[in-house]
Formats: sequence, C-alpha cells, structure tokens
Amino acid sequence: MKLKLTILALCFTAIAHAQVDYLLIPDRVFDGKEIHENWVVGVKGNGISYAGPNKSIDADSTIELKGMTLMPGLIEGHSHILLHPYNETSWNDQVLKESVAERSARAVNHLKASLMAGVTTMRDLGSEGAGYADVGLKIAVQKGVIPGPRLIVAGKAIVATGSYGPKGFHEGVNVPLGAEEADGYDDLIRVTRDQIGNGADLIKVYADYRWGPEGTAQPTFTVAELKTIVEIAESSGREVVAHASSAEAMKRAIEAGIKTIEHGDGGTLEVFKLMAEKGVALCPTIAAGDAITQYSGWNKGVDPEPGRIRAKRRSFELALQAGVKIVFGGDVGVFPHGENVRELELMVEYGMPVELALISATSGNAETFRLDDLGQLKEGFLADIIAVEGDPLSSISNLRKVKLVMKDGKIYKNHP
Ligand SMILES: [Zn+2]
Repeated sequence: MKLKLTILALCFTAIAHAQVDYLLIPDRVFDGKEIHENWVVGVKGNGISYAGPNKSIDADSTIELKGMTLMPGLIEGHSHILLHPYNETSWNDQVLKESVAERSARAVNHLKASLMAGVTTMRDLGSEGAGYADVGLKIAVQKGVIPGPRLIVAGKAIVATGSYGPKGFHEGVNVPLGAEEADGYDDLIRVTRDQIGNGADLIKVYADYRWGPEGTAQPTFTVAELKTIVEIAESSGREVVAHASSAEAMKRAIEAGIKTIEHGDGGTLEVFKLMAEKGVALCPTIAAGDAITQYSGWNKGVDPEPGRIRAKRRSFELALQAGVKIVFGGDVGVFPHGENVRELELMVEYGMPVELALISATSGNAETFRLDDLGQLKEGFLADIIAVEGDPLSSISNLRKVKLVMKDGKIYKNHP
C-alpha cells in the first residue's frame, strides 16, 4: 500500500515537473532580432524557458503551428484607447459629448481588439479629455477584469494655455479640454507631479500645436519649460514624450532631454541628425495622417497623393537617412483599434526594410521603452508571444493573420 502511494506520488511529481507548460512548434521563429528556421519555444508559467533549435522537450501541452511564424507580441508605441475613429465621431464631439463612462466602455472593446490583433503591450499617449480613465483601465487589465495589452499610460498630458482644443467657443463658455493646461516653472512642476501622483507612467507634453495664425503647427513651451517637465518627471523615474510636428518644437524637445518625439512631420535632415546623435527616437504615426487625409476626401489609390502625404513620405525618408531610431506607433484610435499593422505597412511602403520594421515593433520598442523582459523570444523573457500565418518577412501584411496570442503565459487566442 505504502509503495503504491509512493508510485502515485512519483507520477504526480512527474506531471507537475514537465519541463514546460507549452511547447510551441512553428515553421519559423522571429525572436525579435532575426528569423530562425526549425526553432521551438517552451513556456513555463508566465515566462519563456526555452527558445532555440528543435529538441525533445517534455511538455504538458504541445501546439503545432504549421505554416506559421512565432514572434514576440507587438509593442504599439502610440495609441489612444479612449478615442475612436474620427470618421465615426469628430475628435471635438468625442471630447465634448461622450461621457467618460461611454468612452471607457468603448475602450474595453478597443483593448480586446488590440490584444486579438497581436498587440501585447501598448503605450497610450493621452486620455484626450477622459481624465485618468486610462490608469483605471490599465489596472483592470492587470487584475484580469478585462483582456487587453499591458499598458503604459500618460494620463491627461500637458498643454500650454490657449493652445489645445476643443476651440471655437465664446469666451464665456467653459469647455472641457483634451489635455491639462500648465505654464511656467511653478505650475509645470505642480501639474507634472500631480499627473505622476494620479498614475501616469510617463509624461506627454505638446511641444507644439496647430495654433499658428493660419492654423499651422507652432511651438508652445519654451526650452526652459520643457526642461522643467523633464527634470521633474525624470527625478520620479519617468520619461517624457513630446508631440512635435514643427522643426523648431522638435529642436526644443531634443534640447530639453525628451526621449521620443511623436509625429515629427516637419523634421529636416538637420533635426533628424540631431535626434540620431542624441538618441531621441521618432514615432512617426504615418497611419494617422494617412487616415485623416482620407477622412477629408482623399480617395487613396485613385487620386494622386496630396501634398501632406508626399511631405510625410519625404520626412520619413530623411529620418531613415539620418539613422534615427524609429518607434512603431500609429496613433491608433484615429483609425480603428486592432488595425495597428497599418503603421507597419506604411513604414515599409515609405522605405523602411521589413526586418527593421519588425524589430521596431518588438525588441526595438522594448529597448526604447525600457521594457527589459519584453520584445524578444528568449529564455527568461515574459511569455508575450504571437503566431501569424506565413512569413512576415515576405509580406509585412502577414501580421494581419494573427492565429495565436499569448500574454504572460496565458493563451487569449488560438485558431490555427
Ligand atoms: Zn496621439
């Protein structure tokens, strides 16, 4: 009797000690840096315990992924989970007329759509008038209340007084703004600290905005003001990202020590070279401009490219030429959540080699955002893993065919 129990106990021990929980066997593995043929990946708990050449591994569950490529979950660099496409509802009307409850309900759907599209981490750059709803949503994902990517959130974001919208009202009308106004040394210190205290993982600042006399992008904060924000944020262990489209605002942001510049449409070769030299990354958000131009009447594929699109192509080429580090981030929310791959398709269409686009969306963004255990399929890294049909190197659009999504070792989608 005692012997039988011992054998039984040994059996249980053997089961509990299978080398891995999941053994994933695809056609090929993109490990976040390069493609490998005949590799497999083992997952134990929430981590990767093996990634390398195929060998015999004792697994609780083996998943064959025929014809597929296994790769790290995508890391989206610029989203707005509290916005939905402007051709459905204008930005003004979303900020002015939709309650935070409605916007949060929409965000729950947006988060699920993002995760199902293979995005396992997302930097959300501003709640656009929805206060700290992004902080609450991030916590809801962390607690497992709703499915979604890991979130790095900005909260309200900071704008200079008078610069941001919604605009166009009688001065006696008080409208809720899409971000928080602050100016000058004392005020910027207080607001930066307040946003940090309310759960912002980073500080987003608008270094310029379309408030020029003719509606052109013009700088907002002085270099001294930007430096104040950076000093306060960095002493709390947080980085600052800047919205900047004009060359002058980009220069000020670089000088102030900001880590990533969002949009950068008006960047010159000189500015991009400065970014490369100082290690400031560019998040070009090509897909947002592409979408907005179509919303305002451009029939893409039929009409010739409007000036705005041609200029964006040109500035992206200059950034590549200067060797600026490119962050994959499309400003998703302007266009539908879950369509994140659009940005990668446009990065490639505008001249970025496919392998560099793939690196940008995985290990590149992980490095830029200081996510030490994400973005690679490597022993010791967190098990944020996706499988896509075909080879993304032969066509980046294969990233639209996501068949398996695992985050933190848990499977959220498995449709081989
Ligand atoms: Zn944005």
